[in-house]
Amino acid sequence: GIAILAIDGPSASGKGSVAQRVAEVLEFAYLDSGALYRLTALAAQRAGVGWNDEHSVAQIAQSLDVRFENERVLLAGQDVSAVIRSESIGVGASQVAAFAAVRQALLARQRAFATKQGLVADGRDMGSVVFPDAQLKIFLTATAEVRAERRYQQLIARGESADLAAITRDLQSRDERDAARTEAPLRQWHDALLLETSGLNLDQVVECVLSSWKT
Ligand code: C5P
Repeated sequence: GIAILAIDGPSASGKGSVAQRVAEVLEFAYLDSGALYRLTALAAQRAGVGWNDEHSVAQIAQSLDVRFENERVLLAGQDVSAVIRSESIGVGASQVAAFAAVRQALLARQRAFATKQGLVADGRDMGSVVFPDAQLKIFLTATAEVRAERRYQQLIARGESADLAAITRDLQSRDERDAARTEAPLRQWHDALLLETSGLNLDQVVECVLSSWKT
């Protein structure tokens, strides 16, 4: 079968950076499933569709015109890589992600990333819903304080203004919404390996994942 490594976890757990590095080392493709929810929120906003309109947002998700090119994400041919990373689009993504019809609309698109090259899939429901047969499932997490601090440092490094207290509040409300929803709630899947990364740096986490993959 196709080699699939599923990495799930909460916001700012570092799973994006870890999954990308692991994909590079293994020479696997990389799926950033969160980007698809972010793109759906952005496309809805641009179409004047409310994030609470399940039916219309699902139609937008179904017909997303998106291309992933190396580090860039193109929506209808336009580079939206930076736009989709904003906090407001993150909030929209977590709202549209609560709808069953939206998740269903993105399912086939996510599965299409699995080719014989192998895949590292990053998200909330990679091991539970999208790739239940993945060879290895990892649930990557860190305390809320550590995750807020990492997100803060990321924003500062990008030269953006950042408020640690506000980031902590946003992370907590996003986590609560992701965990409380009925559709694919965020939680450690029963056959996933728990990786608590609060005391580890990026290289150490990547090492852990790679050594679990090899055994
Ligand atoms: O990972 P990222 O922060 O980019 O994801 C944005 C939002 O999309 C998350 O807060 C979550 O609500 C949603 N999401 C999801 N399932 C995934 C990936 C992301 O529900 N597999």
